[in-house]
Amino acid sequence: MRLSSGKRRILVAEDEYINRELLKNILDDEYDIIEAEDGETAYELISQNRKTLSLILLDLNMPKLTGLELLPRIKEDPDTKGIPIIVLTSDQESEVESLNKGASDFIPKPYPQPDVIKARISRSIELAEDRQIITATERDALTGLYTREYFYRYGEQFDKYHPSTDMDALCFDVDHFHVLNERFGMAKGDEILKKIACCLTSVFSDQDCVVCRKIADTFLVYCHHHDDYTEMVEKIMASCSELATTIKLRLGVYASCDKKIDIQVRFARAKIAADKIRNNYSVYVSTYDEELLEKELFNEQLVDEFPKALEERQFKVFFQPKYDVRGDKPVLSSAEALVRWFHPAIGMISPGKFIPLFEEDGLIAQLDEYIWRSTAEQIADWKKRLGISVPVSVNLSRAEMYDPNLVDTFERIVEESGITKKDIYLEITESAYVSDADQIVGRVKELRDHGFFIEMDDFGSGYSSLNMISELPIDALKLDMKFIRNAFDKHNDTRMISIVIDIAEYLGVPVIAEGVETEEQYLALKKLGCTIIQGYYFSKPVPADEFIKILKEGEN
Ligand code: C2E
Ligand code: CA
Ligand code: CA
Repeated sequence: MRLSSGKRRILVAEDEYINRELLKNILDDEYDIIEAEDGETAYELISQNRKTLSLILLDLNMPKLTGLELLPRIKEDPDTKGIPIIVLTSDQESEVESLNKGASDFIPKPYPQPDVIKARISRSIELAEDRQIITATERDALTGLYTREYFYRYGEQFDKYHPSTDMDALCFDVDHFHVLNERFGMAKGDEILKKIACCLTSVFSDQDCVVCRKIADTFLVYCHHHDDYTEMVEKIMASCSELATTIKLRLGVYASCDKKIDIQVRFARAKIAADKIRNNYSVYVSTYDEELLEKELFNEQLVDEFPKALEERQFKVFFQPKYDVRGDKPVLSSAEALVRWFHPAIGMISPGKFIPLFEEDGLIAQLDEYIWRSTAEQIADWKKRLGISVPVSVNLSRAEMYDPNLVDTFERIVEESGITKKDIYLEITESAYVSDADQIVGRVKELRDHGFFIEMDDFGSGYSSLNMISELPIDALKLDMKFIRNAFDKHNDTRMISIVIDIAEYLGVPVIAEGVETEEQYLALKKLGCTIIQGYYFSKPVPADEFIKILKEGEN
């Protein structure tokens, strides 16, 4: 680095006065020179100036500490090892020894022409500074591991030189890392990531392999093939246990990689394998296999065919009625619009298969706008043809909450289809509120201020804090289906549902229970105080023409 004077600082460590003066004369114009006349003084000056020193000119024969004794000390200290050292010597054998100990170059005594000395110095400084820039971008600032770009590059380079080595692509993920971050704070989260990085480096240190942090809590390793990683993962988790909390790692393995496949795709496969065991508390390691490959190809097909499917109107909206159960007889009060894909070759595909894919690929916005519009047009049609007015809720995906034009889009849909804002409800999943809460809550408020009715979907599946809930801008709480499943399993325990109903009462909003399949469930939920019930007990989601029949029945 340059000093504020614009010059770079050089230490001349040389016990002979005349030699120091000589070097100073040659270099004074261009460099800021500091001097040491023995090894100990040199070592002290190096420590004091470790942040500003650009180069050390080191005489090998000095009193107190010789140059050869000093060299390893400088090179072993992480703070000083990056400073280039040029050795000054008249002994050819020592030249080699000092280069082996980390010197970047040497200048023979008696000194050559000043130009030669200057050129060697500036070349060494330049090389060291370039090296520093590379290290800054190839390393992740938090963990010191490779960044993803360099990791992939090193992986490819490795393959080039070892084309026949049997390699595995590994992807490590921390289960529910965001929860750890929220519970213990970012500083602790960072500490956990550093610890994992450190464990990975030490576990894989004895072999040719590369480790990197991909993003957040995802780590990648490219290493020689192993038959079983379970013990290794357990060992890493055990080392992390000293951090005062249990950490569960998931490892996805794409074993014996096909090297014809792009390196990024190899790690995408490892990630797919890791995701397969998300929330599975007893299994740590999962391997990419035929079944996952088939699924990957199927997913690729769906994504590829999306534009054509949208153009050909292969997506259809189904409607599932919701009943108000407060009175003696359930009354149809609204419905939910749920998309289905009628694929010409595959047949009907349920949204669970393609919505998550489209969310990842950014296609969801196009599909949803189409669904919202189709739903609005359907509502308008029923109003006009049958004179029946029933509000229908549509689903919104998390990513859509970041769209600054979202309110405009709904305003336009309402206006162009000729319905009112009371005819279309918006279901926003609870997990959307969890990260970037301020931004999402702001967007929801905006929608509400414009007169839209907001239902919080899948309530209880996310991790919203009670604190946050009291400030949420919502008009209804929709219980996550898991509550219903758990409440009516063999334990028959409805206490969690009661708690959620209390929360809803406190917020002054109705509770919707979905996934209700039996009369027993219906009666119990009604008794507990649920306002609205949706589920197979009343009806599955049905196409528009069947829904008309349900609507007409409701009229009678
Ligand atoms: P969701 O919003 O939580 O919708 C409820 C899901 O539960 C629907 O699944 C529905 O058919 C199903 N269901 C309703 N009653 C019962 C029941 O009694 N028992 C059981 N076992 N299931 C019941 P579906 O239609 O497969 O949709 C799955 C998810 O896909 C939806 O979950 C929603 O998150 C998403 N989705 C569906 N349509 C759209 C859409 O147009 N846009 C977006 N962004 N997401 C959608
Ligand atoms: Ca929903
Ligand atoms: Ca739901």
